Amino acid sequence: MAWEITRTVRVRLAVPDDRMSDLHVTNDLFQYCANRTAEWAWRYPEDDCVTSKSEAEDAIYDDLRDETDYLHANLVQKAIKRATDDIANCVDRLADGKETSKPEYNTFSIVYDKRAATYYRDRVSLATVNGRVACEYDLPDDPEGTPHGKYLLNDDYEFATSTVHYDSETDEFYLHAAMEREINASSPEKAQHSRVLGVDCNVDDHIAVTSTGQFVGNANYLNHQRREFEKRRASLQQTGTRSAHLTYQRIGDRFGRWSEDYLHQCSKALVEEAQQHGCTHIAFEDLEQIRDRISDDKKFQQWAFRELQQQTKNKAELAGIVVETVEPSYTSQQCSKCGTTLDENRNGQHFECLDCSYTANADYNAAKNISRKLALKLQRGQKSPAGGAFCQYALKSGVMTVNATEVASDQYVSAERESTDKPTASAVGS
Ligand SMILES: [Zn+2]
Repeated sequence: MAWEITRTVRVRLAVPDDRMSDLHVTNDLFQYCANRTAEWAWRYPEDDCVTSKSEAEDAIYDDLRDETDYLHANLVQKAIKRATDDIANCVDRLADGKETSKPEYNTFSIVYDKRAATYYRDRVSLATVNGRVACEYDLPDDPEGTPHGKYLLNDDYEFATSTVHYDSETDEFYLHAAMEREINASSPEKAQHSRVLGVDCNVDDHIAVTSTGQFVGNANYLNHQRREFEKRRASLQQTGTRSAHLTYQRIGDRFGRWSEDYLHQCSKALVEEAQQHGCTHIAFEDLEQIRDRISDDKKFQQWAFRELQQQTKNKAELAGIVVETVEPSYTSQQCSKCGTTLDENRNGQHFECLDCSYTANADYNAAKNISRKLALKLQRGQKSPAGGAFCQYALKSGVMTVNATEVASDQYVSAERESTDKPTASAVGS
């Protein structure tokens, strides 16, 4: 089995001055198509929303081509897909009892696949309302070691469907190039049998807790360092002298390097933990979906989560381990032992199941749920779930195998009822 690794590289586009307006008009029409699709497909609460791209295409594609004076066929299709994908996410949120509303599109973001764009290593040719426009990339003088050198200019990677963005502050266009690479799994066994390490990320206490009971990094310490840095920076800013300004920049750089380095140690520990337990996969919660759990003034923590996941992904890739995300609902309220989901189960750092009396560190309990979620997802993804391939998840007490009967229903039965492997050493972590 081969799987793909996708990297996104952001590169500035040198758009000829006289063609900028063509891109703006193209974007306006692209967003128009997305909005029209959302308008048409959004039926809540009277009726079921339409989440099928082909259903939407059948209904309104011709109209949209007409109304946009024949915007490139593929751009119309991509706009329809964007809206139906977003509405599918809304429907998921509604199903989870969360609030949501009809998607609206007013920013600059156009999706280009290989039919509406031709990608080269030094430039891209983009379809617009006024023919194609060729835009050169603004590449670093020495791209070696940069994302540009590693992915954009690397023949091992192919261009996949990418997006074009516009920064109104600088009046510049950017390509977010999705670079894809096919990887052959080193052992055929890996393709079938998978074993997941679950990781729960936190804004306080430990930064990451694994399903194997490893506690990694200290979020309180990281936050403390951040506050000290902010304090120092604020006092320098008040000083206002040129040398203070230079120091201000320098300590900013230094803190950036320090925190990145700190997260490097954490991501390294996570990958090592996965290796020790023979895991093929590491599961995180989807950051997009846990964002509403983090308050707005915690940009730094969002950055830290993203950085930790990305770094883990980079290191895991080298170790042949795949990082995937799972949908985060109920991971902290559900009992990882009996499956009972109750808000009252969780009390701060303490988890106690009101049903089966299982008690554990709350983040550890969540990490176990996260690992199990991905194992189930992998099991569902198998062509023949009963074909004998194991989808396992690693716990402190051993390795659990997802049961084939669980594939048929989402009903949580019992997480720890079956072990196909000897327990691994339990003396992991603190
Ligand atoms: Zn329980």
